[in-house]
Amino acid sequence: MRRKAEIVIAANLRGRRPTRSRPPSRRGAPAAYNRFMAYDALVVGAGPAGSATAIRLARGGARVLLVDRARFPRDKPCGGGLTGRALRQAPCDLTPVVEHVVDRFRLRLRYGRQFERSCKLPLIQMTQRRRLDQYLLEQAAVAGADVHDGARVTEIRQDEHGVGADVDGAAVAARVLVGADGANGIVARVAGLGAGIVHGVALEGNVDWGSVDPELYRHTAVVELGQPAGGYGWVFPKGDHANLGVGGWAREGPALREHLQRLAAHHDVAPRALTDVRGHRLPMRRPGASVPGRGRVLLVGDAAGLVDPLSGDGIYEAFTSARLAAEAILGGDLDGYAAALAGALDHHAGASWAAKRALDRHAAACFWAARSPRVFGVVAGLLQGSVGHPGEAHGLARPPLKLIARLARA
Ligand SMILES: Cc1cc2nc3c(=O)[nH]c(=O)nc-3n(C[C@H](O)[C@H](O)[C@H](O)COP(=O)(O)OP(=O)(O)OC[C@H]3O[C@@H](n4cnc5c(N)ncnc54)[C@H](O)[C@@H]3O)c2cc1C
Repeated sequence: MRRKAEIVIAANLRGRRPTRSRPPSRRGAPAAYNRFMAYDALVVGAGPAGSATAIRLARGGARVLLVDRARFPRDKPCGGGLTGRALRQAPCDLTPVVEHVVDRFRLRLRYGRQFERSCKLPLIQMTQRRRLDQYLLEQAAVAGADVHDGARVTEIRQDEHGVGADVDGAAVAARVLVGADGANGIVARVAGLGAGIVHGVALEGNVDWGSVDPELYRHTAVVELGQPAGGYGWVFPKGDHANLGVGGWAREGPALREHLQRLAAHHDVAPRALTDVRGHRLPMRRPGASVPGRGRVLLVGDAAGLVDPLSGDGIYEAFTSARLAAEAILGGDLDGYAAALAGALDHHAGASWAAKRALDRHAAACFWAARSPRVFGVVAGLLQGSVGHPGEAHGLARPPLKLIARLARA
């Protein structure tokens, strides 16, 4: 029998030593862990944002409880593409879970014209979320966090002394609560946060290498522009399979299966060969539209609506927000988190919103602008993390990028 309603008294963060490393899951005893424990931070959700926050907090000497309602290893609908800029923000080396390295792009417009570009350096490193998230969860435990999967948070409370939450029926208190519970989580809703977040939606599935010509897809990210509206389709290579997906505005939801089938047909994949077909929302925050924290509650990753509106990527933003949230908590400056996050992400997100607007309205012109090898150099730099913003482009890359910026305003 599980013991209910154990109360943990909030602890003072300063001067604490990290807790001992533990195996990631101690299932079946969610109340016992917090009996005499005091937590500096309760992190709700163990996706990339939550585990990265827990790793950084535990390394900084905080007592951390990381909980997730799912039992790990668990999967999450995602293309599993790790850009270079995401890897730069990761809390640890992710090489052990990288399955395939992409250094080539094939871009096609509405299943018509296409071009290919390649790069000497890796553009995207491919993983599977089942592996990435399990690995990060383990790293959180190694760093000293208490980690509990299969433990759902059903309620949160906060006052001037700390926060409280019901974790699998047990009352847990901590100094700070980090909402890392994704696009459909409860923390933002209960804390009255999340205004100004708009949603996209994406659907993906896998196909064995045996069902496609591997030579066409190895080391190549195929991007199908302009379908569905407000997004694109993709084929990403993984270790023993390829991942096919489509994403766009939320209103495209009812048509996504059809879009996925069309994508599969264009790549000679029989719709029945697709397995593990799953969809999920993409929460996108308009710059300055919502606050990622209130009082002792901070939001990170998808819970804060940080998905990039152009690419639909969110792992870079998950890792970046995790780092900044951990710094704010360890530095005792919770109020500084919102400004730090805006400083790190809003400039780039603003450019992504503009490019998305241009693409929505003038896909063909954007496609032609993107054909310029100089523009590809900038895109590669953005993915690799060596370029922070398209405005940093020089020389011959500038005119086509200026055209895209003008089209966004047209
Ligand atoms: C189809 C698709 C393809 C994508 N492809 C890419 C890509 O290739 N590259 C990229 O960078 N991004 C991609 N993204 C975006 C990326 O998946 C997300 O941005 C990323 O998962 C955000 O991580 P997170 O930790 O914030 O949230 P999540 O990964 O969603 O994790 C949230 C966690 O919170 C837990 N949780 C929820 N509620 C509770 C609760 N009440 N109590 C306890 N736990 C709870 C959940 O079980 C979950 O484990 C894609 C998204 C989709 C939908």
